[in-house]
Amino acid sequence: MTTYWQREMETLSREKLEKLQWERLKDTIEAAGRSPFYKKRFAENGITAGSIRSLGDLHKIPFTTKDDLRNTYPFGMAAIPLKECVRLHSSSGTTGNPTVVLHSRKDLEEWADQVARCMYMVGLRDTDVFQNTSGYGMFTGGLGFQYGAERLGALTIPAAAGNTKRQIKFIKDFHVTCLHIIPSYAARLAEVMYETGVDPRRDTQLRTICIGAEPHSEEQRKRIEQLLGVKAYNCFGMSEMNGPGVAFECTEQNGLHVWEDYVVVEVIDPETLLPVRDGEVGELVLTTINREAMPLLRYRTRDLTRIIQGDCPCGRTHKRLSRFQGRSDDMIIMKGVNLFPVQIENILMQFNELGNNWLITLETVGNSDEMLIEVELSDLFTDDYSVLQRLAKEITRQLKDELLLTPRIKLVAKGSLPVMEGKAVRVKDLRKLL
Ligand code: ADP
Ligand code: ZN
Repeated sequence: MTTYWQREMETLSREKLEKLQWERLKDTIEAAGRSPFYKKRFAENGITAGSIRSLGDLHKIPFTTKDDLRNTYPFGMAAIPLKECVRLHSSSGTTGNPTVVLHSRKDLEEWADQVARCMYMVGLRDTDVFQNTSGYGMFTGGLGFQYGAERLGALTIPAAAGNTKRQIKFIKDFHVTCLHIIPSYAARLAEVMYETGVDPRRDTQLRTICIGAEPHSEEQRKRIEQLLGVKAYNCFGMSEMNGPGVAFECTEQNGLHVWEDYVVVEVIDPETLLPVRDGEVGELVLTTINREAMPLLRYRTRDLTRIIQGDCPCGRTHKRLSRFQGRSDDMIIMKGVNLFPVQIENILMQFNELGNNWLITLETVGNSDEMLIEVELSDLFTDDYSVLQRLAKEITRQLKDELLLTPRIKLVAKGSLPVMEGKAVRVKDLRKLL
């Protein structure tokens, strides 16, 4: 029987891992050259089978960007005949036109293994009952986790997104032990449980949740763990790299192991495009090395992270990425200060008086740009004006220390901010160009 603790691969020595990467990279370059896009790219840049002689030569290949994917829509990146492809996924298009990713049967098998490996790593087994709250369809969090969990042998409940009361009923009735859920929705689910008299510790068997698909802070994780009485593990993925399973936390909860038998990892400075120094934050660049239908070389993910140095106590040798800050295009530039919404979340979530929903509005007032942060109060909290004022002041102080600018805080009643379907939208930018 296959077990999804793939000990040999997960603990391979760095030397052997890099040797394997190089072998797979060679094959990938050759295969990629059969796609219309890379054939042209290679010709334009003088790249031939012989010009990339080691892993260290990877930098000679130009980056591939999301625009390249858009420009070759729909099939310009296919490295095998469409007849041999068995599935097409398309990104949810958070930031523009959709892109297409094609998969062969083998690609899907590998992806299922990858997700099963991640699930096993956080303690899930074939005795678990797994409910997936992701949308199915094009969003890879649906089918990606579905096949991974089936591969692991768990009993799977493909609940799909939405209908929170029904989600809760399934969790209770089917003795669900594990959920895959986006962090903003996990907080919402917990709220609805409490509102409807369901105590997750008493009335459910939930133990583990896999949270991902959007940036979230350590404080948000702690809050979700506390609300639901579970361990929550950060999972990272993107449709261009299959979907979920690219990188996943182990039970140490200190960084996400990125599976280097699937991808070669680089972290670059998004301005200079040169590698950052070891351990510094930069843009994650990934090269697929075991994908047939649509290999991607040096794909710029736009996600910002850093490599955590040192060995992981779990024994796995695959590199660890730190919690993602967000995408380079999530960065807010206000009065010359660069910041990310998760920095704000990390502070807000430390206040028990606050609920789980919040929204940043950037606006132009007179001649200057202002930041307004509306945040819901937790329902247990007071409506005593002076207490609220003191609270707002303390939040402002802490945010100012972190952000080096002073936002305006508005505490609002629970339930007054829009509830998101899918990934949370935390920033509304209404600034005028002056
Ligand atoms: P879209 O690009 O349309 O949003 P995807 O579903 O492929 O579609 O989204 C992938 C993106 O979601 C990643 O590039 C990253 O920005 C974000 N993401 C996924 N998982 C995480 C995570 N665990 N932490 C932070 N961001 C994440
Ligand atoms: Zn580990």
